[in-house]
Amino acid sequence: MQDQFHRQIDYLRISVTDRCNLRCKYCMPADGVQWMSHESILSFEEILRLMRISTQLGFRRFRITGGEPLVRKGILNFLQEGAQLPGVEDLMLTTNGMLLPEMAAELKAVGVQRVNISLDTMNQEHFADITRGGDVSRVIQGVFRSLEVGLDPVKINVVVVRGFNSDELPSFLDLARQYPLHVRFIELMPIGISSEHRADFVPIKEMKELLGIQEYVPKLAIRGGGPAEYFRPHGFKGSIGFISAMSRHFCDTCNRVRLTADGKLRPCLHSKHEVDLREALRNGNTDADILDLFAHAVWHKPVEHHMNDEALQGVRVMSQIGG
Ligand code: SAM
Ligand code: SF4
Repeated sequence: MQDQFHRQIDYLRISVTDRCNLRCKYCMPADGVQWMSHESILSFEEILRLMRISTQLGFRRFRITGGEPLVRKGILNFLQEGAQLPGVEDLMLTTNGMLLPEMAAELKAVGVQRVNISLDTMNQEHFADITRGGDVSRVIQGVFRSLEVGLDPVKINVVVVRGFNSDELPSFLDLARQYPLHVRFIELMPIGISSEHRADFVPIKEMKELLGIQEYVPKLAIRGGGPAEYFRPHGFKGSIGFISAMSRHFCDTCNRVRLTADGKLRPCLHSKHEVDLREALRNGNTDADILDLFAHAVWHKPVEHHMNDEALQGVRVMSQIGG
């Protein structure tokens, strides 16, 4: 459906859990967060109902995220049912990749079409540091397994943080040169815990300088490109992309809303405003009532984010919203 600013909104990002098997420093505090209780999390049946209702509003593309979506029990069955819902044209997943070596083939088999894998560094010491204990070899294995089983495209998300991985960016160029991988360099957003890392923000312009990228390299359209700007330098099998939520925000072309694991619909990632769909689901409302609530929230999607205005930020950290 269209919102009041004539943007076509057809993309729903769904967080299925706030839990995670990693603790990335810019995403979660060291001792984790107060986990949402089991009852407060939407059941898969509830999420499927909301997906079905959203297709009636024209939603066609669905990304499953978290927390870490692959740690939730029953995720494969849920994905299979989601992929089969009439109107669902594209079912995608964002994952930290730790469980992909075993799960990539099953994901493909149940109908997931493509994956975004978060990988900020390929150096084990740095990876264990930023994720507080992760094993980068599993993620790398998961990346190649995803290619092998035919998930397409496979995108790699690299959040660039000064002094942490900003001097490693060229190693990701090699990855995109040798393999059909789409590496996206992402500006750190000051959400939740990462507000403490504002000084470590690296703007896209600087990332391009670090990579030696020339603006004249032809731009590319990649399926599901969203807000990223992609380039395929000569001789590359994959591509590189940049996502600049901060230095050049893309609110005018934003096509998405988010559903948190506890059933709140967030028209904008960076606004406190949420609509409680869980209560609506559990209070015996009809599909038509919920559709109205959903449509109302989409219609009132803000014209742009105010990420730099701390007063307008919510209290959730990224893993609780669903990045
Ligand atoms: N656990 C999964 C993962 O890491 O891919 C899915 C959830 S995670 C919140 C989704 C994405 O958000 C990851 O690529 C992560 O790097 C990114 N992210 C988390 N905090 C961020 C921040 N403050 N700024 C930019 N990206 C962030
Ligand atoms: Fe977990 Fe993803 Fe957040 Fe890292 S970025 S702590 S993997 S939810």
